[in-house]
Amino acid sequence: MSRTWNIDIVNKIGGEVQLYGWVHARRDMGKIIFIDLRDRTGIMQVVFAPKEVGGAYEFAKALRSEYVVSIIGTVQKRTEKTVNPKLPTGTVEILAADLKILNESKTPPFELDKDTRVVNEETRLKYRYLDLRSERMRGNLVLRHRVVKFCRDYLSEHDFTEIETPILTKGTPEGAREFLVPSRLHPGKFYVLPQSPQQFKQLLMVAGVERYFQIARALRDEDQRGDRQPEHTQLDIEMSFIEAEDVYELTEGLMIAMVGHLNQLVGDGLIPSRGGRLPGSPLHGIGPWHISKIPFPRISYSDAIEKYGSDKPDLRKDKNDPHELAFAWIVDFPLFEHSEEEGKLVATHHLFSAPRPQDIPLLDSAPEKAFANQYDLVANGYELASGSMRIHDPKLQQKIFHILQIPVEEAERRFGHMLEAFTYGAPPHGGIAPGIDRLVMLLAGEPNIREVIAFPKTGDARDPMMGAPSELPDKSLREAHIKVAE
Ligand code: ASP
Repeated sequence: MSRTWNIDIVNKIGGEVQLYGWVHARRDMGKIIFIDLRDRTGIMQVVFAPKEVGGAYEFAKALRSEYVVSIIGTVQKRTEKTVNPKLPTGTVEILAADLKILNESKTPPFELDKDTRVVNEETRLKYRYLDLRSERMRGNLVLRHRVVKFCRDYLSEHDFTEIETPILTKGTPEGAREFLVPSRLHPGKFYVLPQSPQQFKQLLMVAGVERYFQIARALRDEDQRGDRQPEHTQLDIEMSFIEAEDVYELTEGLMIAMVGHLNQLVGDGLIPSRGGRLPGSPLHGIGPWHISKIPFPRISYSDAIEKYGSDKPDLRKDKNDPHELAFAWIVDFPLFEHSEEEGKLVATHHLFSAPRPQDIPLLDSAPEKAFANQYDLVANGYELASGSMRIHDPKLQQKIFHILQIPVEEAERRFGHMLEAFTYGAPPHGGIAPGIDRLVMLLAGEPNIREVIAFPKTGDARDPMMGAPSELPDKSLREAHIKVAE
């Protein structure tokens, strides 16, 4: 008999079905045993009554939480009194005729049928495969999948090509510390992991791709302040022959259409909504969402600081409402800022961001007064995306390196390939990179991005489940030409 998903049982009253899943909960009423059987689609109540099932009732007595089972039974309508309106499958139940235990389970270290957010996070991360069985976490994974799929479909329909760029590469210029990868084949040389595909996406514009996107992993070896992760995912976008205005239009169009699409999925029950199914679950479920203002307001960086004391203001009417999405653009960032630490000007975004066209003359007289052709998209107090129009003229790029006091030889060594590429007909281009983790976190009404990443690291960049980072055998180190200093 072929397998039926729990969610599809509702329409099969009177039929016989084969179910697989995990024992979510078990209630022993003496003569009768109930279990909630969980599969990826939800929960189904299964009834074990001795006279109908004979030997299987004895097995049912042995069932414990998280046992993996195969059940054959008949779908029956629940009596009016026993209907559970909170479950999408709550109008029916299965009268079990056969039960096989496919695997046993130790008692999990925390309760999976409750909101696991109250559990110690180290424990949740050590047993992440169990944490992900909980309803809230499963919902977050599905929501994330829907968001990513929507981005892919939307951009594909808007003539973008998805292209993968390398993970083993050379330094990128965003200014964060990079993870280093020693080369075994080239002793003393290193790859670095990309903190963004910035250079590659610009080189793809030189290559004539014109419209690129990638669901890209960005890796940054930074001190783990607050809600940072050493790796995060961004929707990396780059376009040619455009103005900043085109980036605003594309991004707003994408966000607005996404919210509409997700609301429809919530309505159709294709994103598990969370309302009330979990005892102790937060009041807010997943969706529906509404956007406060369309088109998204634009606020200059200096106004944002002056008015809200932040360059990522929370503009919601009700700051506690996770269903409201208050998007806004922050624009007119200074091109450079003074770094106390380095005692010189540094790029506020990255050193490929173009100045506003009207500010180019300032580069010779007063570069610190120039504004960048750069934008951040913020929502509900978070920076959701940043991007800029890029420099495509090698002379202008060299001038920026000069202002940043990057010596000619160093610029050549680090970015010679970019300067050279710009001499072969580089089109005007620009782009943006919305953070997927942040976006899903906001949509899910979660307090941090770890809740929407399947296997995140701890606040101090460890993975308690895998035990990463870890020491390596001497042989591996020797092969990689590495000696660990005492
Ligand atoms: N590469 C930039 C970042 O990761 C985004 C962009 O400029 O498109 O922040």
